[in-house]
Amino acid sequence: MRAMRLERTAPAEEAPLLPVDIASTAPGPGEVRVGVEACGVCRTDLHILEGEVPARLPIVPGHQAAGTVMAVGTGVPGLRAGDRVGIGWIASTCGRCAFCVSGRENLCLAATFTGRDRDGGYAERLTADARWVYPLPDGFTAREAAPLLCAGIIGYRSLKLSGIAPGGRLGLFGFGASAHLAIQVARHWGCEVYVFTREERHRDLARTMGAVWAGSADERPGVDLDAAVTFAPVGELVPVALARIGRGGTVAINAIHMSPIPTFPYETLYGERSVRSVMNYTRKDAEEFLELAARIPVRAEIESLPLADANRALLGVKRGKIRGAAVLDTR
Ligand SMILES: [Zn+2]
Ligand SMILES: [Zn+2]
Repeated sequence: MRAMRLERTAPAEEAPLLPVDIASTAPGPGEVRVGVEACGVCRTDLHILEGEVPARLPIVPGHQAAGTVMAVGTGVPGLRAGDRVGIGWIASTCGRCAFCVSGRENLCLAATFTGRDRDGGYAERLTADARWVYPLPDGFTAREAAPLLCAGIIGYRSLKLSGIAPGGRLGLFGFGASAHLAIQVARHWGCEVYVFTREERHRDLARTMGAVWAGSADERPGVDLDAAVTFAPVGELVPVALARIGRGGTVAINAIHMSPIPTFPYETLYGERSVRSVMNYTRKDAEEFLELAARIPVRAEIESLPLADANRALLGVKRGKIRGAAVLDTR
């Protein structure tokens, strides 16, 4: 099967993913083999490419894979050949630790990740642990579903951890793949959404999607926000976001890797403001979000590229040039 594989980390400008033809593995016990039809491109893939998130090498990246079950290993209840499914970032968890048994498997220290520890969706097929494969709701093509599988689910978890209440004033810092899906959920909850982003075309998209205000991070919208989520991997944004929220508000950081957060005066945090990071997602987040996404319905803005153009897609993410989400066509 065709795949785009990383053998040596390098800046995206050097196009480090190489086209390869590799054997696809048969599903072992508890696994399924999936024919990938589309795979979303995530900023985490860029961090893997450039070595900021260490990965097993060589690795086929990609953790937003949507397609059809081709073969099922032994001991897999509930999935059959022909089922339409999605695979996201978490590839497995231990199932036994204190985090796993309390529904916080996103924090499992023994978790493995798709496209980091086992080959992912920048390929025609992938083999996955069936416990971390989600049936796709009706109404989405594979291409439409792909960006929901990490950008969408983690964006949803970030909204929850920000504590934003229905109707509240929410700030989104950065407006890429995850934020443009999160805004649709926030609007569904009746929130007033304020978007802070550098690129004018991202501000345009934010306004089109119902933001009441869009500007740069150094502008002030003139009201205190109840909560904020930062999506850009830029530590400088954390004190800026804190300065935009009112007392008791939370800034949730949706990032797996971030530049250092600069020091800031305690007054910026005082007033019971909180900062918290968001790590992965739970199975419950995934199930809740996919159900909600079908009901709203959440629609990703998609820039579609052939699998062979994976390097170009990642460079687009790096340069902030993707409008919405980049998705690789893997058929
Ligand atoms: Zn991701
Ligand atoms: Zn665990």
